[in-house]
Amino acid sequence: MLNSILNFLTRRIKSTVSRNQIKVFSIKRLGINKKHLSRGAIDTIKKLQQNNFNALVVGGAVRDLLVGVKPKDFDVVTNAKPEQIKKIFRRSRIIGKRFKLVHVYVGDETIEVSTFRSKNSSNVMFDDNGRITRDNSFGERDEDANRRDLSINALYLDPFNDQVFDYHNGVNDIQSKIIRVIGSPAERYREDPVRMLRVLRFSAKLNFSIEYETYINIKKYSNLINGIPKSRLFDEVVKLLLSGNAMKGMEELWSTKLYLTAMPFLHDVFTSQYLNNSDFTVNNFLTLALNLVDKRVKTSKTVSIGFILACLFWHRLLKDWNVNRSRGLREIPALLDAINKIMDENFTSSPIQKRYLTDMKEIWILQPRFEKRRGKAPFRLIKNIKFRAALNFLKLQADIKMVRPELVTWWDDFSTQKDEGRLTLINSLSHPSPKNSKARRKKIEENRPI
Ligand code: ATP
Ligand code: MG
Repeated sequence: MLNSILNFLTRRIKSTVSRNQIKVFSIKRLGINKKHLSRGAIDTIKKLQQNNFNALVVGGAVRDLLVGVKPKDFDVVTNAKPEQIKKIFRRSRIIGKRFKLVHVYVGDETIEVSTFRSKNSSNVMFDDNGRITRDNSFGERDEDANRRDLSINALYLDPFNDQVFDYHNGVNDIQSKIIRVIGSPAERYREDPVRMLRVLRFSAKLNFSIEYETYINIKKYSNLINGIPKSRLFDEVVKLLLSGNAMKGMEELWSTKLYLTAMPFLHDVFTSQYLNNSDFTVNNFLTLALNLVDKRVKTSKTVSIGFILACLFWHRLLKDWNVNRSRGLREIPALLDAINKIMDENFTSSPIQKRYLTDMKEIWILQPRFEKRRGKAPFRLIKNIKFRAALNFLKLQADIKMVRPELVTWWDDFSTQKDEGRLTLINSLSHPSPKNSKARRKKIEENRPI
């Protein structure tokens, strides 16, 4: 009884502490199970502490442990300098120029160990727009906390003293499901505009809402994104799409209009998917596709970026493909021409790695080949390394009745059978009509994917 009164009082006192004042929680009180910490992180911290350095788990892993999500990796922060860290760990490597840190290898784990950053020291370099171009200035833990992007990412966990240090009300924001930038959003976005995309990503990943100032300043400063290397932007958008809540990510990109600067190629996707400028309405195909991506992410299955791109631009491709057909082009030349048009208009100076674009094109090109189920064609198709991805793509179309479900069932069967069974499946198909008969042409017409 006494304990619960004391608990109640401390909670009240703690909740009245102003922002920026450190709060200390016990791991147990936060419901964190220490078993979920990785061996690599524990060993790294132990060794640093044995060498009389301060060392803690920081950032995403602490946040994820608090929301009950399995952390995908562990970041450690310490007051040891990169060279000192390197000396302690035989299997380690200093990486980065703009932001020096050390990769420590423990078994098959890589632990990213960084040194507490300091604020406004002579070693932090800014460009004319206020963007940080180099930051290798080291300081204390509270300064480090000020340098982190979001309140929920500025939590420090000491596994040996069973404590979590919270400098910016991150625990409270996690409990209230709020994404909030530390400090003044305008200033923090100017220092590093990619933080705007990180806000959207974590809002999607955790299904949290975005605090008003954090949100409104994204709309205001979205043009700052222009100075960021395209490849860094694409990496961030990919992370957003693989957040496990891709539709919310797209919705946020749309509502903040951040896509206009961050990923202009999405303009095409939005204008072909969304019915008018104020509503966020996507067609069934994209909804299903992104739900499938989310499902795979949540069950730790691999997701191909090429597949996501193929889904995003499918609606647009169909439009051009149909235009080409109505101009009298045959099926395949009409498709190839439509693909070339999309490539020219969207991907000529794009940051997207070539292999993703090749996968995207391959998935599209394979679609009409699912109609060819006689002779050697199905055996050739099944050997294609993009067969699975292309079949999943076909399934999405069947789900919204853009292709016949029977076609998907047949290919599903075909892919699971041995040669003999495959021949039986081919023979089970009804006899083809004479080559250019009216009936055959009509059938092809009916079976078109749209
Ligand atoms: P994820 O689950 O995607 O790995 P994360 O929060 O761990 O999420 P990281 O990119 O691994 O994200 O970064 C680790 C930590 O470094 C963050 O939690 C945050 O504290 C800090 N950080 C990362 N990027 C920035 C940035 N652009 N500005 C300020 N702090 C950052
Ligand atoms: Mg991380």
